[in-house]
Amino acid sequence: MDTIVVASANKHKIEEIASVTGNLGFHLISRDDAGVPADFEIVEDGETFEENSYIKAKAIMDICGKPTIADDSGLMVEALGGAPGVYSARFAGEDHNDKRNNEKLIDLLAHIPYKERRAKFVAVITLLFPDGRKVVARGECPGHIIDQEEGTNGFGYDPLFVPEGYGSTFGMLNPEVKNQISHRARALKLLAEKIGSMRLESAISEED
Ligand code: IMP
Repeated sequence: MDTIVVASANKHKIEEIASVTGNLGFHLISRDDAGVPADFEIVEDGETFEENSYIKAKAIMDICGKPTIADDSGLMVEALGGAPGVYSARFAGEDHNDKRNNEKLIDLLAHIPYKERRAKFVAVITLLFPDGRKVVARGECPGHIIDQEEGTNGFGYDPLFVPEGYGSTFGMLNPEVKNQISHRARALKLLAEKIGSMRLESAISEED
Protein backbone atom coordinates (compact mmCIF):
# COMPACT_ATOMS: atom_id res chain seq x y z
CA MET A 1 0.00 0.00 0.00
CA ASP A 2 1.40 3.44 -0.94
CA THR A 3 2.08 5.84 1.89
CA ILE A 4 1.11 9.49 1.63
CA VAL A 5 2.31 12.13 4.08
CA VAL A 6 -0.24 14.76 5.03
CA ALA A 7 1.30 18.21 5.35
CA SER A 8 -1.30 19.48 7.82
CA ALA A 9 -0.95 19.02 11.56
CA ASN A 10 -4.73 19.45 12.00
CA LYS A 11 -6.20 16.11 13.20
CA HIS A 12 -9.67 16.85 11.85
CA LYS A 13 -8.29 17.47 8.35
CA ILE A 14 -6.12 14.36 8.49
CA GLU A 15 -9.18 12.24 9.35
CA GLU A 16 -11.25 13.83 6.58
CA ILE A 17 -8.51 13.24 3.99
CA ALA A 18 -7.85 9.72 5.34
CA SER A 19 -11.48 8.74 4.85
CA VAL A 20 -11.11 9.32 1.12
CA THR A 21 -7.52 8.24 0.47
CA GLY A 22 -8.03 5.13 2.65
CA ASN A 23 -10.77 3.97 0.30
CA LEU A 24 -8.33 4.40 -2.58
CA GLY A 25 -5.84 2.08 -0.93
CA PHE A 26 -3.43 4.72 0.34
CA HIS A 27 -2.05 4.72 3.86
CA LEU A 28 -1.90 8.22 5.32
CA ILE A 29 0.72 9.30 7.85
CA SER A 30 1.16 12.64 9.64
CA ARG A 31 4.13 14.93 9.05
CA ASP A 32 5.34 14.03 12.58
CA ASP A 33 5.32 10.32 11.76
CA ALA A 34 7.19 11.07 8.53
CA GLY A 35 10.00 12.60 10.61
CA VAL A 36 9.33 16.28 9.88
CA PRO A 37 10.56 18.32 12.88
CA ALA A 38 7.64 19.81 14.87
CA ASP A 39 9.18 23.28 14.69
CA PHE A 40 9.48 23.19 10.89
CA GLU A 41 7.33 26.08 9.71
CA ILE A 42 6.13 26.69 6.18
CA VAL A 43 5.76 30.26 4.94
CA GLU A 44 2.41 30.37 3.13
CA ASP A 45 3.11 33.38 0.95
CA GLY A 46 1.16 32.34 -2.15
CA GLU A 47 -1.53 34.55 -3.62
CA THR A 48 -3.95 31.74 -4.40
CA PHE A 49 -5.22 28.61 -2.64
CA GLU A 50 -3.52 26.59 -5.41
CA GLU A 51 -0.15 28.24 -4.72
CA ASN A 52 -0.38 27.79 -0.96
CA SER A 53 -1.41 24.15 -1.08
CA TYR A 54 1.48 23.49 -3.51
CA ILE A 55 3.95 25.37 -1.27
CA LYS A 56 2.91 23.23 1.73
CA ALA A 57 3.00 19.90 -0.13
CA LYS A 58 6.37 20.68 -1.77
CA ALA A 59 8.04 21.81 1.48
CA ILE A 60 7.08 18.60 3.28
CA MET A 61 7.86 16.33 0.31
CA ASP A 62 11.33 17.89 0.01
CA ILE A 63 12.05 16.85 3.59
CA CYS A 64 10.64 13.33 3.65
CA GLY A 65 10.91 12.28 -0.01
CA LYS A 66 7.45 10.64 0.01
CA PRO A 67 4.20 11.47 -1.81
CA THR A 68 2.63 14.36 0.09
CA ILE A 69 -0.83 15.88 0.26
CA ALA A 70 -1.70 19.40 1.44
CA ASP A 71 -4.77 21.57 1.44
CA ASP A 72 -5.49 25.26 1.65
CA SER A 73 -8.89 26.80 2.18
CA GLY A 74 -10.75 29.97 2.98
CA LEU A 75 -13.76 32.18 2.44
CA MET A 76 -14.28 34.50 -0.53
CA VAL A 77 -16.91 37.24 -0.20
CA GLU A 78 -18.12 38.74 -3.46
CA ALA A 79 -18.89 42.23 -2.07
CA LEU A 80 -15.33 42.36 -0.68
CA GLY A 81 -13.70 41.53 -4.00
CA GLY A 82 -12.95 37.95 -2.89
CA ALA A 83 -11.54 38.82 0.55
CA PRO A 84 -10.56 37.41 2.99
CA GLY A 85 -9.45 34.64 0.55
CA VAL A 86 -5.98 33.28 1.35
CA TYR A 87 -5.92 35.60 4.37
CA SER A 88 -9.01 33.98 5.94
CA ALA A 89 -7.20 32.62 9.01
CA ARG A 90 -5.44 35.94 9.76
CA PHE A 91 -8.20 38.32 8.60
CA ALA A 92 -8.37 40.27 11.89
CA GLY A 93 -4.62 40.93 11.90
CA GLU A 94 -1.96 39.95 14.42
CA ASP A 95 -4.32 38.99 17.25
CA HIS A 96 -6.62 37.05 14.97
CA ASN A 97 -8.95 34.31 16.11
CA ASP A 98 -12.30 33.01 14.83
CA LYS A 99 -14.30 35.47 16.95
CA ARG A 100 -12.32 38.52 15.81
CA ASN A 101 -12.31 37.41 12.18
CA ASN A 102 -16.10 37.04 12.30
CA GLU A 103 -16.55 40.44 13.95
CA LYS A 104 -14.47 42.08 11.24
CA LEU A 105 -16.54 40.40 8.54
CA ILE A 106 -19.82 41.49 10.17
CA ASP A 107 -18.56 45.10 10.37
CA LEU A 108 -17.36 45.22 6.78
CA LEU A 109 -20.69 43.93 5.46
CA ALA A 110 -22.90 46.00 7.79
CA HIS A 111 -24.30 48.21 5.00
CA ILE A 112 -24.75 45.39 2.45
CA PRO A 113 -28.21 43.78 1.97
CA TYR A 114 -28.51 39.99 2.34
CA LYS A 115 -29.01 39.41 -1.38
CA GLU A 116 -25.62 40.96 -2.09
CA ARG A 117 -23.80 39.00 0.59
CA ARG A 118 -22.86 36.15 -1.72
CA ALA A 119 -19.78 34.20 -0.65
CA LYS A 120 -18.12 30.85 -1.16
CA PHE A 121 -15.83 28.58 0.79
CA VAL A 122 -12.97 27.26 -1.34
CA ALA A 123 -10.62 24.33 -0.71
CA VAL A 124 -7.72 23.25 -2.88
CA ILE A 125 -5.94 19.95 -2.33
CA THR A 126 -2.58 19.21 -3.92
CA LEU A 127 -1.03 15.74 -4.06
CA LEU A 128 2.62 15.63 -5.15
CA PHE A 129 4.75 12.62 -5.98
CA PRO A 130 8.58 12.61 -5.87
CA ASP A 131 8.62 11.64 -9.59
CA GLY A 132 6.99 14.99 -10.45
CA ARG A 133 3.36 13.91 -10.83
CA LYS A 134 0.88 16.40 -9.40
CA VAL A 135 -2.86 16.09 -8.76
CA VAL A 136 -4.80 19.26 -7.88
CA ALA A 137 -8.46 19.32 -6.88
CA ARG A 138 -10.56 22.42 -6.08
CA GLY A 139 -13.90 22.36 -4.31
CA GLU A 140 -16.27 25.27 -3.76
CA CYS A 141 -19.35 25.69 -1.59
CA PRO A 142 -21.50 28.75 -2.43
CA GLY A 143 -23.70 30.59 0.06
CA HIS A 144 -24.43 33.84 1.88
CA ILE A 145 -23.05 35.68 4.92
CA ILE A 146 -25.52 36.70 7.65
CA ASP A 147 -25.16 39.68 9.99
CA GLN A 148 -24.69 37.87 13.33
CA GLU A 149 -23.24 34.56 14.48
CA GLU A 150 -25.72 31.66 14.58
CA GLY A 151 -24.81 28.20 15.90
CA THR A 152 -21.79 26.69 17.58
CA ASN A 153 -20.91 23.76 15.32
CA GLY A 154 -17.83 23.77 13.14
CA PHE A 155 -15.15 26.44 13.29
CA GLY A 156 -13.97 29.64 11.60
CA TYR A 157 -16.68 31.44 9.63
CA ASP A 158 -19.22 28.60 9.99
CA PRO A 159 -21.61 30.60 12.27
CA LEU A 160 -21.93 33.30 9.59
CA PHE A 161 -22.19 31.14 6.47
CA VAL A 162 -25.52 29.87 5.09
CA PRO A 163 -24.82 27.35 2.30
CA GLU A 164 -26.92 27.62 -0.86
CA GLY A 165 -30.14 25.60 -0.60
CA TYR A 166 -30.22 25.67 3.23
CA GLY A 167 -31.93 27.96 5.73
CA SER A 168 -29.31 27.84 8.48
CA THR A 169 -25.59 28.36 8.95
CA PHE A 170 -22.88 25.70 8.97
CA GLY A 171 -22.69 26.58 12.66
CA MET A 172 -26.26 25.26 13.09
CA LEU A 173 -26.30 22.41 10.60
CA ASN A 174 -25.45 18.88 11.59
CA PRO A 175 -21.70 18.33 10.92
CA GLU A 176 -22.62 15.32 8.78
CA VAL A 177 -24.51 17.63 6.42
CA LYS A 178 -21.54 20.00 6.25
CA ASN A 179 -19.20 17.10 5.54
CA GLN A 180 -21.30 16.12 2.54
CA ILE A 181 -21.54 19.52 0.87
CA SER A 182 -18.48 21.41 2.10
CA HIS A 183 -15.74 22.78 -0.12
CA ARG A 184 -13.32 20.22 1.36
CA ALA A 185 -15.72 17.33 0.74
CA ARG A 186 -16.13 18.45 -2.88
CA ALA A 187 -12.36 18.84 -3.38
CA LEU A 188 -11.77 15.39 -1.87
CA LYS A 189 -14.38 13.80 -4.11
CA LEU A 190 -12.72 15.34 -7.17
CA LEU A 191 -9.30 14.25 -5.91
CA ALA A 192 -10.54 10.67 -5.62
CA GLU A 193 -11.84 10.81 -9.21
CA LYS A 194 -8.55 12.25 -10.48
CA ILE A 195 -6.45 9.64 -8.68
CA GLY A 196 -8.72 6.95 -10.10
CA SER A 197 -8.22 8.14 -13.67
CA MET A 198 -4.46 8.65 -13.12
CA ARG A 199 -4.19 4.99 -12.05
CA LEU A 200 -6.25 3.90 -15.03
CA GLU A 201 -3.95 5.81 -17.40
CA SER A 202 -0.79 4.31 -15.89
CA ALA A 203 -2.33 0.81 -15.99
CA ILE A 204 -3.14 1.33 -19.68
CA SER A 205 0.34 2.66 -20.51
CA GLU A 206 1.92 -0.33 -18.71
CA GLU A 207 -0.12 -2.62 -20.97
CA ASP A 208 1.17 -0.84 -24.12
P1 IMP B 1 -6.54 26.67 6.42
O1 IMP B 1 -6.86 26.02 5.14
O2 IMP B 1 -6.44 25.71 7.56
O3 IMP B 1 -5.36 27.59 6.31
O4 IMP B 1 -7.83 27.55 6.82
C1 IMP B 1 -7.95 28.87 6.45
C2 IMP B 1 -9.07 29.58 7.18
O5 IMP B 1 -10.22 29.59 6.34
C3 IMP B 1 -9.53 28.97 8.50
O6 IMP B 1 -8.76 29.43 9.58
C4 IMP B 1 -10.95 29.52 8.58
O7 IMP B 1 -10.93 30.84 9.02
C5 IMP B 1 -11.38 29.50 7.11
N1 IMP B 1 -12.04 28.23 6.78
C6 IMP B 1 -11.58 27.25 5.96
N2 IMP B 1 -12.46 26.23 5.90
C7 IMP B 1 -13.49 26.58 6.71
C8 IMP B 1 -14.71 25.92 7.07
O8 IMP B 1 -15.02 24.78 6.68
N3 IMP B 1 -15.50 26.60 7.92
C9 IMP B 1 -15.21 27.83 8.41
N4 IMP B 1 -14.09 28.47 8.13
C10 IMP B 1 -13.22 27.85 7.26
